[in-house]
Amino acid sequence: METQNNWVTRSLQHVWHPCTQMQHHETVPLIPVSHGRGIWLYDMDGKRYLDAISSWWVNLFGHANPRINAALKDQLDKLEHAMLAGFTHAPVIELSEKLSDLTGHALGHSFYASDGASAVEIALKMSFHAWRNGGQTEKQEFICIQGSYHGETVGALAVTDVSLFREAYGPMLQRAHVVASPDARLAQDGETAADVALRAAADLERVLQQRQGKVAAVIIEPLVQCATGMAMHDPIYLRRLRELCDRYQVHLIADEIAVGCGRTGTFFACESAQIWPDFLCLSKGISGGYLPLSLVMTTDAVYQAFYDADVRRGFLHSHSYTGNPLACRAALATLAIFEDENVIAANRQKSHMIASAFASLKDDARVKHVRQQGMIFAFDAVVDDAERASTFSRRFFSAALQQELLMRPIGRSVYLMPPYILSEEEITLLAQKTMNVFEEVMA
Ligand SMILES: *Cc1c(COP(=O)(O)O)cnc(C)c1O
Repeated sequence: METQNNWVTRSLQHVWHPCTQMQHHETVPLIPVSHGRGIWLYDMDGKRYLDAISSWWVNLFGHANPRINAALKDQLDKLEHAMLAGFTHAPVIELSEKLSDLTGHALGHSFYASDGASAVEIALKMSFHAWRNGGQTEKQEFICIQGSYHGETVGALAVTDVSLFREAYGPMLQRAHVVASPDARLAQDGETAADVALRAAADLERVLQQRQGKVAAVIIEPLVQCATGMAMHDPIYLRRLRELCDRYQVHLIADEIAVGCGRTGTFFACESAQIWPDFLCLSKGISGGYLPLSLVMTTDAVYQAFYDADVRRGFLHSHSYTGNPLACRAALATLAIFEDENVIAANRQKSHMIASAFASLKDDARVKHVRQQGMIFAFDAVVDDAERASTFSRRFFSAALQQELLMRPIGRSVYLMPPYILSEEEITLLAQKTMNVFEEVMA
């Protein structure tokens, strides 16, 4: 029988892993996964790992979820794929209807792709093209928020403000305006999270004023900028953003790829501020973490801007697997679980349980900015030594594996983004293990 080490060797020879300096695997372990069940992933040696970050934020209801598995098996025998230009099928129709319902039909038109970055590209192109179709050809610029992350294709990277990802490609990218972050951690003495948000909104207004008539859209990750290290802001920022976009005639793009699907406490993060954007991007959790699926939801107004006899006024964008029936079916099964199991309400309780399980962090001097938004929990480790700080995340990841945990801090921000099926005992276990790892890494 082939050993786990053999799989690792073979992988490192031929698989180029994502977001990885491959040389680090000389010291950082690579785990060949044999199977998954619920919140656990199992390696080839039978060792298990609690998937505390939902396999990069995609998994909502556990690995090998019986309901999603059954739906996919059924769909597999009906239709695995058919092109979506000139053809349509039940899963994509039902999914689009359900999503429209969830926005009270404010965003009644869904356009499909396969991964998150493509959804962002679509939203940017649609905004630009909608203005152009309306005769506003000057609106060509985009605004993003400091620390934003919207994916790593060339268009999405242009509105991404994480230097680690952008640096090498700067000359390839169209420049976007970067405005102040509403991150509550930036509060100065006496300032509340709402004060920070309003200060940041004023900076946005300054750019909107300066570039009046030139800006197509503002793109934001509502409530939590995940990839920059779980930066959270007050929902008042979103309300102000919506007002400003209306006042300056600019589209609002909500990238809910990570924060959508119940992650922050409401199904769409925008609901927490009682606003709707002009474009809403979904991916990651929408297929339950099963298959690559992304989509952009938009308004009647945007849809009508493309509706015409002239083919060139249409949105001529496609991907080979646009609206894949298996992926849509997985999404339908995922939405059915939300409905049948009252997931949003159950998550509210679970997020309280997570907060209490980590209560001791509040007066831990080695920790700053303990924060939570729904099923995202995070804190920043205080590490003064520069060398130890730069290796914190990798050391944490390796130590976590020893504790049967899959966790990957972002810099010194330790975070949990677990599947929603976690039980109370599992939350306790997760907190204990996380604290054990933290003790070890800080020692
Ligand atoms: C993950 C992510 C993306 C990119 O999605 P991919 O599927 O990785 O291309 C875009 N925006 C946000 C907010 C994300 O978290």
